[in-house]
Amino acid sequence: MKTVGILGGGQLARMLVLAGAPLGLRFKVLDPAADACAGQVAPLTVGEYADEGTLARFIDGVDVATFDFENVPAQAADWLAARVPVFPPPQALAVAQDRLSEKNLFRDLGIPVAPFADVDSEAALQDAVMKIGIPCILKTRRLGYDGKGQFRIRATEDIGAAWAALGPQAATTGLILEGHVAFQCELSVIAVRGRDGAFHAWPLARNWHDEGVLSASLAPAPVDAALHAVALDHARRLAEALDYVGVLALELFCRDGELLANEMAPRVHNSGHWTIEGSQTSQFENHLRAVLGMPLGDTGALGVSCMLNWLGELPDPVPLMREAGGHWHDYGKSPRPGRKVGHASVRVNSHEALVAALQRVGVALGRQAQVAPVIASLA
Ligand code: AMP
Repeated sequence: MKTVGILGGGQLARMLVLAGAPLGLRFKVLDPAADACAGQVAPLTVGEYADEGTLARFIDGVDVATFDFENVPAQAADWLAARVPVFPPPQALAVAQDRLSEKNLFRDLGIPVAPFADVDSEAALQDAVMKIGIPCILKTRRLGYDGKGQFRIRATEDIGAAWAALGPQAATTGLILEGHVAFQCELSVIAVRGRDGAFHAWPLARNWHDEGVLSASLAPAPVDAALHAVALDHARRLAEALDYVGVLALELFCRDGELLANEMAPRVHNSGHWTIEGSQTSQFENHLRAVLGMPLGDTGALGVSCMLNWLGELPDPVPLMREAGGHWHDYGKSPRPGRKVGHASVRVNSHEALVAALQRVGVALGRQAQVAPVIASLA
């Protein structure tokens, strides 16, 4: 009986625990919040990640440690790695914590990216805008997620406002300026690498965001096989370069048939939630298999799936539950504006059936705007 320790007790940890139960696994979860939602399904250690006493209590009885988010302080990851096996390796976390090192790694691996520049002063921002061109996006290098810590520069007059908004953070989080990509669609690869180097990837997902936060995913993304192969090759090179173990997500922009990497996540990912019902082995189960050194499961899709994120508060589950391919996930969190409180997935056997189901669900839940781009993409 193995015990997996998870740093971070949000919905990703919760779904890891739920996936691990049939494998006979036990879990311990560490989170600073006493009401962390994974604490409803596994023993929770409450305390700060940077506190060694807390970490020591947490790893007592733990066979392997992993993460449900990437912004774990580097010294906490290193402290753990000196005592128990930690996957993914702390160096992968370190790269993913910093948009600049991430972009440099992509570029070094030959994975195309939008133009970018490190920014440490208003003058450097002016220069970078001139070099990269408008429109562009100023982002914090660290601690930004789901579109937070970003400022869009649409005209030279916006440069002052961008610096006023994010400049005060430059010393702590660092800043990066990126060219704005006029993409036709956003895609993600969810891949898994085992302790023995075995590599598998799920079919690509096509993703839609609302104000920087994932709103819907469609998988397998209806893209041609050549594009699919390029995306998987990018993910494989990244995983191998980082000597990665576990599930890894790579977010990509697709522009005129070319893929540009946006960012990576060294963990299970929101755009992979469809794999729970929509593939042979979910991202959560395969992450656990990988970190424990078990054989990886098949990542083939079962039918076609759409995942809808519920932000702020949950809608009525009944219309979704009445759908033959409908599956409901309530994370057990209290409602709060913008908070990820649950998701639904619809898995059926054809695009026609998916469109029909999404139309019914969209109308019944008053979520027509959320399902509309998915339906339009299948027209
Ligand atoms: P991020 O936090 O970097 O994943 O950004 C959140 C979302 O903002 C992305 O999924 C895109 O929809 C959008 N976005 C971020 N960076 C860019 C970019 N360089 N060009 C165009 N859109 C972007």
